[in-house]
Amino acid sequence: MFAQRVREDDTVPASMQGEMQPVIYRFKLGGFEVTPILDGKSVRSGLTPSFGGEAHADEVKKLAKANRIDSDRYESPFTPLLVNTGKELVLFDTGNGSLRDEHEQLKGRLPQGNLVTHMKTAGYKPDDVDVVVITHGHPDHIGGLTKGGQPVFPKARYVFGATEFDFWKKGENVREARKLNRELYVKIVVPLAEKATMIKPGDEVVSGIRAVDVSGHSPGMLAFTIESEGKRMINWADTAGHYIVSFQRPDLELDVDDDKAKAMATRKRMFEAAANEDWLIASYHMPFPGLGYVEKVQSAYRWAPQGYQVNL
Ligand SMILES: [Zn+2]
Repeated sequence: MFAQRVREDDTVPASMQGEMQPVIYRFKLGGFEVTPILDGKSVRSGLTPSFGGEAHADEVKKLAKANRIDSDRYESPFTPLLVNTGKELVLFDTGNGSLRDEHEQLKGRLPQGNLVTHMKTAGYKPDDVDVVVITHGHPDHIGGLTKGGQPVFPKARYVFGATEFDFWKKGENVREARKLNRELYVKIVVPLAEKATMIKPGDEVVSGIRAVDVSGHSPGMLAFTIESEGKRMINWADTAGHYIVSFQRPDLELDVDDDKAKAMATRKRMFEAAANEDWLIASYHMPFPGLGYVEKVQSAYRWAPQGYQVNL
């Protein structure tokens, strides 16, 4: 017989505790430890027209319904990645930081960044970070670099993509929707240049971590292969924007892509390679922990979240 659970006052029902979701996930990749951390998430309106524009609104609505998700509202998670190589603690992207408190225009758009809080729970202090790698210059990736003008990771050196850095620094041909982004980049990232290494695709960040060109979503976005003791994964940042639409309709334009045609070509190239070569992927805006594989389905793809493969 099970013991009967008795509350002190059993006339009072248990209280509601509110939503609770995992925000830290850690696994071993060869001799490395890899930790995706959920900085925060936004719930945004308009899966259409953000994905595919008005012209494809009906198709995207049908796609959403077929995949049991809302076509009006969608969740955008933000997932920086920590990699401990045993020699260096490398942080890829810094989340939203306190951008929304510092910029009125970003209030409804970006969540409060919780990266540092969750890092502490996971056992890391900001001082522990040796290298901060920025995949690209969009606000949700650079926002946590500084707080009130001060570096959040004071002991770290920085790694920035040279093409991305030059683009935002020069500020030529910045599209209207990215004008504020450019201001943020100049304010947050440019002053850190003297502590930064500027890299190009093919360059090594630290032993086992190497840059790959995935430009299109932004002018110089970089992905990174992460390899240790024969195990391999790739952190491809924002190559995919949504776990259903981007994969099942990679041909649709995405409003947040800076060069839409190039982003589409990059998406297809990377999806094809990921499916053929069975890559484990870390993908910044997928449902947490943002780890998975790509399956080829007829002429399109499917995001296959990892189950327990990385834990065995
Ligand atoms: Zn992003």
